[in-house]
Amino acid sequence: MSPRVTRREFVSAAASSAVISRLPKTSFSFLAEEKVPLSANPSWKEQGVLNLANSPYAKLKNVPVHAVTILDGFWSGRRAANVKTSIPSMGKLLEVNGRMDNFRRLIGKSDAPQRGPVYSDSDIYKWWEAIGFALQSGDNSALRALVENTAKDVMAAQQPDGYLNTYYVRERAADRMTPKTQQWGHELYCMGHFLQAATAYYRATGDRALLDTGIRFVNSFLIPSYGPEADKKPLLSGHPEMELALVELYRMTGDKRHLNLAEYLLRGDSRIALKPENYVYHFCGKPFTSRTKLEGHAVRAMYACSGATDYYLETGDEMYWKTLNTLWSDLVSSKMYITGGVGARSDGEAFGDPFELPNAQAYTESCAAIGNMMWNWRMLAATGDAKYADVMERALYNGINSGMSLSGNLYCYRNPLSFDPSTGDVIRNEWYDTTCCPPNLERTFASLPGYFYGTSKEGIYVHLFHNSELNWKLEDGTPIKIVQKTEYPWKGVVEFEVSPVVPVSFTLFVRIPSWSDSTAISVNGGLPIDSIVRKKDPNAGGSNNSSSVAIYKIPKAGEYYPVKQRWSPGDKVRVEFDVDAKLIESNARVVENNGRVAVQRGPLVYCLEGLDQPEGTSLADVSIRSGKNLNAGFSESFEKDLLDGVVTLKHEGTVSKASGARSSLYFSADAPASSSSKVTLTFIPYYAWLNRRPSPMQVWTPLQRS
Ligand SMILES: [Zn+2]
Repeated sequence: MSPRVTRREFVSAAASSAVISRLPKTSFSFLAEEKVPLSANPSWKEQGVLNLANSPYAKLKNVPVHAVTILDGFWSGRRAANVKTSIPSMGKLLEVNGRMDNFRRLIGKSDAPQRGPVYSDSDIYKWWEAIGFALQSGDNSALRALVENTAKDVMAAQQPDGYLNTYYVRERAADRMTPKTQQWGHELYCMGHFLQAATAYYRATGDRALLDTGIRFVNSFLIPSYGPEADKKPLLSGHPEMELALVELYRMTGDKRHLNLAEYLLRGDSRIALKPENYVYHFCGKPFTSRTKLEGHAVRAMYACSGATDYYLETGDEMYWKTLNTLWSDLVSSKMYITGGVGARSDGEAFGDPFELPNAQAYTESCAAIGNMMWNWRMLAATGDAKYADVMERALYNGINSGMSLSGNLYCYRNPLSFDPSTGDVIRNEWYDTTCCPPNLERTFASLPGYFYGTSKEGIYVHLFHNSELNWKLEDGTPIKIVQKTEYPWKGVVEFEVSPVVPVSFTLFVRIPSWSDSTAISVNGGLPIDSIVRKKDPNAGGSNNSSSVAIYKIPKAGEYYPVKQRWSPGDKVRVEFDVDAKLIESNARVVENNGRVAVQRGPLVYCLEGLDQPEGTSLADVSIRSGKNLNAGFSESFEKDLLDGVVTLKHEGTVSKASGARSSLYFSADAPASSSSKVTLTFIPYYAWLNRRPSPMQVWTPLQRS
């Protein structure tokens, strides 16, 4: 496809497509002559969560979702509940809450009035995307029918000019795409989610009907009329999302206009002037490269960063890379919760100031933690740097994982780090009128296999650990199978069987998580030889090549360990991570956590839930008692019948009962000490909290050093 299309070609293409669009649509697929050519290299089946196969600045390429089969273990139950319960029940709720009737009323199939907020269309699209990803792991006719039965009505509701939205139509048609509506109306946000859904469905089935509908919105409606040129109207994304969808579309169409439109949205257009506070809130409208900190609406900021990284992966634009690194440092140095959640403030669903990380009031929307994972996945692709995989894993196992109940039908919008049910707050709900988080969680769990591995010219990267089977290929085309056997994250041992179809040399990059203080690695029962650092033997003298000695590299936390060798079918790698429970402190500037510690075991953050503590124990009164060896006091046991099977931790603690002056709000610092008694504290993984009856919960607990 020619990257440049002249204005004349462009106008005539738009005109002919407008003619075609007035023809009656009689089938699920559109007319053949409308179809934009899609890249077949790689084919739709071989495209991953992101199709980075031809992205010049992507060091790592994605592996398709279907290439990784997740077997029994930590994620298998969650993923089964997602397909059996979450996705079907969400479909019913979307129907009951009028989300589909919004489309049907536009095509004469429903008399129901419009229902739901301006962004309601995106609920359907995110749910479709979840189904698209689920289908990438294997066909399922019942799931496929859920899309087929709804997609017809959605596609039929597309306007002749390509516009598709159920809110700014009929009585609100005059408000369509006005600057104010672009700011608040989520038209492009909805279409961004439509494109992501269409992409996931296409990669599952090869059916491009949805994609063609999205392309028509972009090519026929947006591009001819909106853009930076003086003869076009200005465009604002309002809620970033379209940016990343457009770059992914570019990866399929090769049409530079799609990439340029993404860049234009990231740059902003001064013709749509926002109030200063709204440049902050919307995280768009002014040049992305002028940003120096994370602020404003957290989901918007994370999606903007994801889209900007996508743009970088295609262009290598240094200004973008500089900004992305500045923002990433801001994230991990002062604005991310230990759970990987982001967005501290409920006011504006926003990032707080540096170190403003309240626990009970934490907003930490599920969508924002998902956005954090999406952004770091892209930064990882750009660099192969394990620090991004660490953030992904932190968010995935904790702040995202907490968002869906073990039953699969209750969802968190907020994911606070402490909770008191007496406030009346109900954290896990089946439905929210702003139901962004539930289908976002569903699409994330459904796409999980696509995040396990990456490939580079040098070999294969292992990002995540689970009982699983990879059937894919090296970048030189050599078919390879990798079987992982592990009880991760409950146990630290991961055994790999690496089987290229023929003996071949490459590097297996094994991620050593930053929390693993000591890691052992062996290959076929012996030490791995890191031939990269093979040095000449100083004792051998002479210049003979055969006189070199092998240098064994110690696995270092927070890096990928490169095992470079000639691999034969059945070669075995054994890695043992240190998953012992540890006490974690936060920076003293996080005022709420002063004197407190959190418990982390492997990638999992733990918490106290009131109902696991001895009768009558208030979490507000407890502290963890530690000896000289801070991390020595834990005992652990795997409880298979508790919370679908979890490792619980026990630790000695103290209950202090404030009495006398100390029970007042304020009192003299030399008031007599409170009486205290010993207690055994029981910790569960944070993600599993509030899956029994409501009970107080806290992640950060005071530490009493003895
Ligand atoms: Zn959300």
